Amino acid sequence: MRLWTKWTAWLCLSLMVWMAAVESAHNHATRTESASCSICVAAQSASPTLSSSPIAPVFAAVGLLQEEDVIAKARFDFSEAGIRGPPAL
Ligand SMILES: [Zn+2]
Repeated sequence: MRLWTKWTAWLCLSLMVWMAAVESAHNHATRTESASCSICVAAQSASPTLSSSPIAPVFAAVGLLQEEDVIAKARFDFSEAGIRGPPAL
């Protein structure tokens, strides 16, 4: 890894850590200032809401398994295989 890539990565990482510390520690003197602060607005608007009507699962048959017996037709003829059959007594 090149030297400038390492330094750029460390710079970005340190800026991210610094901004996280500053955002969590900042304070406003009045409520009007906090209403216009983008950090405070984003922190208050990101609260998740719960869904009041959960979706009920739908159970339906999509197919029916129909079994059929498989009967293999065994057939072996020595003349087709090109080998000699067992000796007949
Ligand atoms: Zn703020």
